[in-house]
Amino acid sequence: MKYRDLNIQTQRDAPNNARTEGFSFLVRAGYLTRENVPTQLGEATLHHLRDLSSEPAFLSQLSLPTVGNDEEIFFPITSGPINVAHCPNCNYTDRLEFARCAKIPLPKEDELPLEKVLTPDCHTIEALANFLGVPKEKTAKALMYTRVYDNQFIFVVIRGDMQLSEAKLKQHVGDIRPATAEEIEGSGAAAGYASPIRLKDAIIVVDDLIPMSQNLVAGANETGYHFKNTNYGRDYSAEIVQDLIQAKAGDACINCGNPLSILPAISLVTRKIYDIQNILLALAETHHDSKGLTLPHSAAPFEVYLMQIPGKEMDTRAKAEELYNNLQNAGISVLFDDREERAGVKFNDADLLGFPIRVTVGEKGLKEGMVELKPRKEKENQLVPLDKIIEKTKSFLK
Ligand SMILES: [Zn+2]
Repeated sequence: MKYRDLNIQTQRDAPNNARTEGFSFLVRAGYLTRENVPTQLGEATLHHLRDLSSEPAFLSQLSLPTVGNDEEIFFPITSGPINVAHCPNCNYTDRLEFARCAKIPLPKEDELPLEKVLTPDCHTIEALANFLGVPKEKTAKALMYTRVYDNQFIFVVIRGDMQLSEAKLKQHVGDIRPATAEEIEGSGAAAGYASPIRLKDAIIVVDDLIPMSQNLVAGANETGYHFKNTNYGRDYSAEIVQDLIQAKAGDACINCGNPLSILPAISLVTRKIYDIQNILLALAETHHDSKGLTLPHSAAPFEVYLMQIPGKEMDTRAKAEELYNNLQNAGISVLFDDREERAGVKFNDADLLGFPIRVTVGEKGLKEGMVELKPRKEKENQLVPLDKIIEKTKSFLK
């Protein structure tokens, strides 16, 4: 392909909406518009990657620092829309909403008698814990939903110091929406003072830590009052007992107990289906230097960036055309920069685009039968005899 056929537009400056260096270079090198739409060059690259993705070792040859599990592989990136829980020790990884952590029950206590106490203005767990002088982990947090398909009222109990994962809840009960004030009242619960004790027509769902937690403070289903010493099994029971908790940074890994990290990420593979545009972003994020992209050989849309410097005495362009054909006939993919631009502009663009090798045809070298070869990741270029350039290029691409 020739540079002008692909209509490549490089940019000197980073787009002001760039949230990461990788995205910035993809826009500057003309693979993407600043609206994140692939250009002709971008489409050619995605097409190349899509072809390559049929190879079993596709992802491993791209040298990307990924995290993942059997279902999904992620690339951590600050602009990523997905949160992933990851254990740096054993590599346990899952989407945050489904991640599991090791829960440690509080020391077992004897069950104390239920006691109704006045708790004015204690609508939140914080206010309640402060008012009664108990730690949040000794309270029960109530959350009330209605199941979408049959309007069944669902009452959820988790420990007061923890957060519910609605995604996990949905796995057990189906799709849900927040319960309305009428639905809460209809079940016999009191908003802000709700508990699972003596409800009507409610499916009760509790986190698996609740049956191991004695003497929790919970609502009395009467505005202004809570119960002290509620106990699962004695005071209420549940239809469903499951892990419902959303993990947070620092929680203990379910496998090894090490603290979990929470990473923003993009998904590269879901059940063996590749997200090729996300893979391109991950490549740019991982493989660049201060001048532009440094794509791994297999990922680059072209192996060689061929350019010529206009000569005073010799027709360097004709020689470059000849080399362009010879390289292609030898099975090497080439982008020929056929523009009438200054050498400096072309050198900069070659660095931005990030193909593995740049070959430059210039008058000075040609006089001695040489062309210049520069691997993108090396500092120095070297002069190579014209009749050896194909062999030399191939040896670099191995
Ligand atoms: Zn672990």
